[in-house]
Amino acid sequence: MSELASSYDVVIVGGGVVGSAVAFFLATNSDFDGRVLVIEKDWTYRKAATALSSSSIRHQFSNALNVRISMFGVEFIQNFPTLAATDVPGPDLNLTENGYLFIANDQRGVDILRRNARTQQACGADTVLLDNDDIRRQFPWMTADDIVLGSYGPRGEGWFDNMGYLNGLRHRARASGVTYIEDEVVGLGRSADRITHVTLRSGRSVAAGTVVNAAGTRGTSVARMAALDLPVEPRRRSLFVVDSREKLDGKIPLFIDTTGVFFRPEGRYYLAGTVPEHDPAVDPDDFSVAHDEFEEQIWPALAERIPAFEALKVINSWAGHYDYCTLDHNVIVGPSPEVPNFLFANGFSGHGLQQSPAIGRGLAEMIVYGAYRSLDLSPLGYQRVIDKKPFIEEAVI
Ligand SMILES: Cc1cc2nc3c(=O)[nH]c(=O)nc-3n(C[C@H](O)[C@H](O)[C@H](O)COP(=O)(O)OP(=O)(O)OC[C@H]3O[C@@H](n4cnc5c(N)ncnc54)[C@H](O)[C@@H]3O)c2cc1C
Repeated sequence: MSELASSYDVVIVGGGVVGSAVAFFLATNSDFDGRVLVIEKDWTYRKAATALSSSSIRHQFSNALNVRISMFGVEFIQNFPTLAATDVPGPDLNLTENGYLFIANDQRGVDILRRNARTQQACGADTVLLDNDDIRRQFPWMTADDIVLGSYGPRGEGWFDNMGYLNGLRHRARASGVTYIEDEVVGLGRSADRITHVTLRSGRSVAAGTVVNAAGTRGTSVARMAALDLPVEPRRRSLFVVDSREKLDGKIPLFIDTTGVFFRPEGRYYLAGTVPEHDPAVDPDDFSVAHDEFEEQIWPALAERIPAFEALKVINSWAGHYDYCTLDHNVIVGPSPEVPNFLFANGFSGHGLQQSPAIGRGLAEMIVYGAYRSLDLSPLGYQRVIDKKPFIEEAVI
């Protein structure tokens, strides 16, 4: 069992990318010399969204704050070997900048893409709008008859190595003195408006100055330990690795069809998924794959859009869970108004890998300085849950 002190300045519940990003930004902040503990219940990470993710990142959001969050994510990933260096460079996360391609085939979709592109460009993103001719020229493998407009990110969008990222964060944080233990938080001691300590499954108890809830799909049960509500629930997302006899030529982006079905290259194969038509909360331990989604939604949509995908063979599949925010499918981040030393980092709704650098940085600033310094994340705070005012983001996958 790991050496454990009786108290820590910051206790982080959950050691996935989000908890580890908070630990990383605390560990690398020269204004902070507190003690940090990360408690992770399963070091295999086999059920963590971090490990089950499709690991993609995009600038193409509709809300400027989400665009800026991801822009920082891209910069962080690109500079990771330097930023996560210890006595050796941090890992190269192999960011494959093939871009995302959204398409629209009706006026409403066209208006949304145009509006979003303006927002993204105003933030400094390289989004380009493509007309029907451009799309036929650049992506000749797709049936484009109905497409009026496309929106494409030629730089700063793509996919990267999720587990290399997690390991690099952990390694760098530990090198600066952050303690990681394998144990489970089963209770939080609350006295009036403060969390005083955490109780672990092993029976140990640790006093905490600040507690960060980075427990992924278990974030709601951790919040409940502090008698706090969180509108976050696990929602299943199934991913399918498929082989196609006929390969697509050129630089293939992460393509999102008008049906919501998406795919991207994965080595010599392709990775595909969709937003399920029926999308209830699921048991957080149920990782069964929704094979009917492939048969009924994904394959028909892909075969219709991409003639070469008429004959697809599923060679692997898995399911993971989004920590889905039922208010507005956006992250809830920052201090609880009721218990200010309890910080949320929950409800990423499928964006947490790319958002973890900015959220980790922001929470570290909140802990060290009592305020956000680089990017104001307060529009994503818990207050909007109290006010029942959704944070609007239209570009959801
Ligand atoms: C299929 C799928 C595809 C995705 N694709 C993308 C994508 O393309 N791009 C993107 O940006 N995001 C994507 N996401 C979302 C992204 O993976 C998650 O938002 C992100 O990994 C969340 O990280 P996390 O650290 O909050 O959660 P997790 O990785 O789930 O980590 C939480 C950790 O907390 C631990 N824990 C829970 N309760 C306790 C407790 N009581 N005590 C101790 N430890 C505890 C768990 O064991 C777990 O390891 C995808 C998710 C899924 C499921």
